[in-house]
Amino acid sequence: MSELQYKVLVGLEIHVHLSTKTKMFCGCALSFGEEANSRVCPVCLGMPGVLPVMNKQAFEYAVLAALALNCEIAKFTKWDRKGYYYPDLPKNYQISQYDLPLSRNGFIEIPLESGKTKRIGIIRAHLEEDAGKNLHATGNFSQVDLNRAGTPLLEIVTEPDMNSAAEVRALAEELQRMVRYLGVSEADMQKGHMRFEPNVNLVITKDSKEYKTPIAEIKNLNSFRALEKSIEYEIGRQLDRFLEIGEVMEMGNKSTRGWDDVKEATVLQREKEEAHDYRYFPEPDLVPVELTEEQLKDIKSRLCELPIKKQMRYVNEYKLSDYDAGVLTAERATGEFFDEAVKAGGEPKRVCNLLTQVGLKLANEKGCSVAELGIKPDGLAKLAMMVESGEISATAANTILGEMVKIGKSPQELAEQLNLIQKSDAGELEKIVEQVLAENHRAVDDVKSGGKRSKKAEGFLLGQVMQKTRGQANPKVVSEIISKKLS
Ligand SMILES: [Zn+2]
Repeated sequence: MSELQYKVLVGLEIHVHLSTKTKMFCGCALSFGEEANSRVCPVCLGMPGVLPVMNKQAFEYAVLAALALNCEIAKFTKWDRKGYYYPDLPKNYQISQYDLPLSRNGFIEIPLESGKTKRIGIIRAHLEEDAGKNLHATGNFSQVDLNRAGTPLLEIVTEPDMNSAAEVRALAEELQRMVRYLGVSEADMQKGHMRFEPNVNLVITKDSKEYKTPIAEIKNLNSFRALEKSIEYEIGRQLDRFLEIGEVMEMGNKSTRGWDDVKEATVLQREKEEAHDYRYFPEPDLVPVELTEEQLKDIKSRLCELPIKKQMRYVNEYKLSDYDAGVLTAERATGEFFDEAVKAGGEPKRVCNLLTQVGLKLANEKGCSVAELGIKPDGLAKLAMMVESGEISATAANTILGEMVKIGKSPQELAEQLNLIQKSDAGELEKIVEQVLAENHRAVDDVKSGGKRSKKAEGFLLGQVMQKTRGQANPKVVSEIISKKLS
């Protein structure tokens, strides 16, 4: 066997539905799950003689997302028609952007499993309109639903910088988190708000010679799982083809493949597809868009701290685990709630534990975010401070947080009402410790001997005191008293 190594190269095209109220070039409402063809008008049906008008909100959303992707924003951008002969777009073209897209040359940082990040280049991000949907559910004919036709889409094209299926998935998930943070898309996979088209090929080194396999573009993937699985499959398929028949990249042997979810395999759709097949030409009915310095400044002011930056900050500054930081930054509202509680004086790790152990569970049960549970960040901060000062135990704090959500009182009131204030009065605790020591001579001897069993015996004595005080003694204070008495 000769030595064979290979490197995976994947670039992605991603379509993201922007969550505007109306469509890209007409006033039809964007709403999911309505009766077929009930959200259409002459413009999005492509009737002759109508004039499209650009949705300003969609343009601003697209610029905001492009800024978050670190792209250069064009001050002058125009629209083009892309020839498109399918029944789901009756005017036979899609309005898109060709040579003057609204942004280019950016990058996105994705988290790697090692805890580090990787920078993936963004070639361009531009606006276009979505097509309708073919329905094949009924009998021997197809139907077309054009409710989706004209939905504003942000198309993002990356460099082939991803080297594994896991990296591609990380990018897809990071992008979802990002557009949700920015509020430009709900990015709901089930509703088709995000669709992925990876371009996959391999660079194989065999007998110190390099070979490239033909690029396969996998069309229309709408789940993270399909995205990851299809790339894994494609890597195996291309390797096999190279080993079996020596297939390598030549002019024009790029192919388009689909993903069969049942067989878990990619299937050939078309060989060879180049941009000029689409026959682009400038859209005569829409004026070019010029973006002023003030408009750009205004859109820039709407940027927020991006999720991956927030996550890294929690790990570096607050020493939270990568997992906890990921949980807290999954949604913007949760991260901001956490930030405010910390600003109000809560120790980060304590606040994090309260949120992840109780807050998120309750929010999940109620189907809302932590921010919508009815507790205030400073209430949570106070609760964390009470644990920190030893006033209540961590377990008691979890109980109190549950009650804060239920009846909305302050943590102090609830701690008193539920009798959860820890006893820290040294004089009172000393008496109880003395009693416990008198009743447990063996454990006392074990501790004093300082041998193997000493630690365990100390724990036992502490447990006895906790039991006598029904869990209300401050364990830290009790431990100190026990040590002092037995040293
Ligand atoms: Zn319309």
